[in-house]
Amino acid sequence: MFKKILIANRGEIACRVMATARKLGIKTVAVYSDADAGAKHVAMADEAYRIGPAPVSESYLKTDAIIDVCRKSGAEAVHPGYGFLSENPDFVDALDKAGITFIGPSSRSIGAMGLKDAAKALMVEAGVPVVPGYHGDNQDPDFLKSEAEQIGYPVLIKARAGGGGKGMRRVDDPKDFLDALKGAQREGEASFGDGRVLIEKYLTKPRHIEIQVFGDNHGNAVHLFERDCSLQRRHQKVIEEAPAPGMPEEMRRAMGEAAVKAAKAIDYSGAGTIEFIADVSDGLRSDRFYFMEMNTRLQVEHPVTEMITGEDLVEWQLRVASGEPLPKSQDELSFGGWAFEARLYAEDAPKGFLPAIGTLDHLVLPEDSARVDSGVRAGDEITPYYDPMIAKVIVHGPTRDAALGKLLASLEATEVAGCVTNAAFLAALCRHEGFARGDVDTGLIDRDLNSLIREPEVPEDAVALAALTALGLTRPAEGHDPFATLAGWRIWSASRQYALLEIAGERLDVEVHARGHRRFAVHLPGGIRQYTLIKVTDGAYTYECEGHRARAAVASSKKGLTVFLNGHAFPIILPDTLSADEEAASAGDQLVAPMPGLVKVLTARAGNKVTKDQPLVILEAMKMEHTLKAPRDGVIGEVLVSEGEQVTDGTVLLALGEEESDAVA
Ligand code: ADP
Repeated sequence: MFKKILIANRGEIACRVMATARKLGIKTVAVYSDADAGAKHVAMADEAYRIGPAPVSESYLKTDAIIDVCRKSGAEAVHPGYGFLSENPDFVDALDKAGITFIGPSSRSIGAMGLKDAAKALMVEAGVPVVPGYHGDNQDPDFLKSEAEQIGYPVLIKARAGGGGKGMRRVDDPKDFLDALKGAQREGEASFGDGRVLIEKYLTKPRHIEIQVFGDNHGNAVHLFERDCSLQRRHQKVIEEAPAPGMPEEMRRAMGEAAVKAAKAIDYSGAGTIEFIADVSDGLRSDRFYFMEMNTRLQVEHPVTEMITGEDLVEWQLRVASGEPLPKSQDELSFGGWAFEARLYAEDAPKGFLPAIGTLDHLVLPEDSARVDSGVRAGDEITPYYDPMIAKVIVHGPTRDAALGKLLASLEATEVAGCVTNAAFLAALCRHEGFARGDVDTGLIDRDLNSLIREPEVPEDAVALAALTALGLTRPAEGHDPFATLAGWRIWSASRQYALLEIAGERLDVEVHARGHRRFAVHLPGGIRQYTLIKVTDGAYTYECEGHRARAAVASSKKGLTVFLNGHAFPIILPDTLSADEEAASAGDQLVAPMPGLVKVLTARAGNKVTKDQPLVILEAMKMEHTLKAPRDGVIGEVLVSEGEQVTDGTVLLALGEEESDAVA
């Protein structure tokens, strides 16, 4: 076994790998960019080395810098995590040349599966079923369009080098084909430096079911059962589970066998995933699943497999890479119970899942009830340079219902302030009836998106607690000074104070009367309510209001306050912290870049009349395209940016004026 390994990654996966290395007594070496100098993975490692500036092309993707650190530190092997260099055959070859072991498959295996088109051709040869479509060399737009016609609409255009849902476009109507093709090519080019595409029949009721496989250098290959990753948004996984709900034993066997066949076809060694798409328009059937692609690395969602099998997949990777045979044979593997993983992201679900950035001023992860794989700590920053994942929340239970209940409770116990997250969206998914029944397909989220991202009204209790906090009336007593515990209370008359809050774009002046020891009358839009703070500890309150006792937490951040109540986070702005720019933006007079990015497409022209929600700008950020829409009807005043321009978050992209009356001269 290795004595020292380098982890060529960051964030949660770097930390995850280090945890197993430490368990096995292996020393760990971290690498980091300037943006990550204070990151958790750096703090966790035995040694850490800077490899360059924040952009990944200048740090985490620099083969030479990583090999250099191996030499300096004496690391014998490199674990690539996922993303970055994990599926780069040139990186594996370079390590090979330097006499360093790559903890993963051979460059040949990676190469064979690296491009979706070549991989499909290989699988056809190996007798593994593939999705009908065109995966040839001819990239002429008109030719591809005629292929699409033959396949029959709807079709899916995929960047052949794509991954993570990038570079994919569904097309329902031939008239949209060429535009969609351009979009897919553009994204493929931007993300992978390869704009070539393939075209597939788009299955209208598919499930994404993947099989975890493992091979070693002694010719063995096994599978560790399936994961269902059908809950997706923009082809990106949101919640994964294992096993797959409703999976017939016969189909499980057929998929497992096909996956092992695929792995053996490329002499696979290490952890890999064979992704299948199952056509469930007729239920789960053994003759209706197709190979989509193979990921030749550890998957983000590997923990659900670990939870049901009790195996540590990183330990398997390390053993196999150090030359040991697979720890178990197929017959020795089994699974039990049910596991879910939810991906907690810094993103704004109601605003089209825009990636968010910010400082995690307050972070409580549900470590008591779940396994939490995270690469950040309170106070850390989510930067625009990397994937905005905050944590993976992973649960296991004896049954699917029990595990899902645990997932919901864990998400409801999650508190993040300083950065918007998708926690409420994930919790809403846990409450979704179809999902609860196990009736999943990849269209579920889109179909019910509106109800899944609906933001509940801010409850009056949240408003009251925010007002009390803003006025400094909730501070815990310090020492025994009786006056310190009587914040806001006067002997002779009840004091009146006003808290100015901004909630969902509306300002509210909340009048508060102190009535005695931690007792307050709060004037709320629905009337006056009496509050008593029963227990106050570090931002967590137990309070009573009109005979009802409840718990809540309030965290403050640069952006104001966040009240955590009933499993929801309610952001409340304290208006004097609001800048003039933001005020104008919230009034809809400007279109503001919500994050740093590149102005990819600009359709807006000064003087153009636009209607609310009309797409005006495509911003590329974090390698994805985000469409920014008109905040209201109006006429475009000034356009302040141009295509190809790099903008920071908060940049005003264009001004929106009022529509002139249409009086005819
Ligand atoms: P990536 O490598 O970018 O993750 P995949 O080829 O694995 O791309 O596909 C990602 C997701 O897109 C799948 O999980 C599935 O939901 C959807 N998808 C892929 N191919 C098809 C298809 N032919 N029909 C319908 N949905 C598809």
